[in-house]
Amino acid sequence: MPELIEVEIYRKAAARTVGRTVSTVSVSGNNYLRGGTSHADLRSAVCGGQLGRVRRKGKLLLLEIGKTVVGVRFGMTGRLIVDGEVTINELLYTTDEVKDRHVRFSLGFNDGGTLVVLDPRAFGNVELNPDESSLGPDAMRISNNALQGLFQKSRSTLKALLLNQQKISGIGNLLCDEILWRSGAAPARISCSLNCDEIERVSSAVKTTIRDLTKRGGSHLGELQPQRHQKGVCPLDGARLNQSTVAGRTSWWCPEHQL
Ligand SMILES: [Zn+2]
Repeated sequence: MPELIEVEIYRKAAARTVGRTVSTVSVSGNNYLRGGTSHADLRSAVCGGQLGRVRRKGKLLLLEIGKTVVGVRFGMTGRLIVDGEVTINELLYTTDEVKDRHVRFSLGFNDGGTLVVLDPRAFGNVELNPDESSLGPDAMRISNNALQGLFQKSRSTLKALLLNQQKISGIGNLLCDEILWRSGAAPARISCSLNCDEIERVSSAVKTTIRDLTKRGGSHLGELQPQRHQKGVCPLDGARLNQSTVAGRTSWWCPEHQL
């Protein structure tokens, strides 16, 4: 669930720690460390380093500490707590409770502050110097031309393309379904079969959906979201929604206006 909207909220919260020096680091187990990094590697890479910049690419949060970049992925249930303050209370698919056993990664700073990742289901991970080039342009910042080019060239379904983090990064299942619903395009439609007007509509829906749901405060606050259930109807025309698996993900869409 944390999609780029949530991770952007985490980035802003983490930015409050810029300029502090890391005094301690801990990780719940080697499983949470990706790329063969050991706890000792992590400690020697970040302890004593100053937090320089906090960036985000797609759903990846990047903490620049000294000469090291620490990448944090939040999986399905990851939340960030900065100086004891929960940055997002309500996150779909997880509990709002804060439990010590859900702490997967934490940094302690010399001023006594902390940056903690809580992740009940532990599908997220932490990686030193992650390969950022494997991620496509961030969906919040991609240019309209680049976005239209993606749709024109791809032989994938729209759903698969929008979820392909190597092509465009940051969109998850909820945002994807909302974008397609707003643009009137079916998730299984082959991208390069869209005409110019349709490409324009989907491209613009990518931008406006991200903007609207950012203002509302989360990827789960779209119009379609309350209707994602067996008796759900299209908020636009009242048609019974279809549920199907597209690109390996559960998709809710309207057979009436999504063509
Ligand atoms: Zn509809």
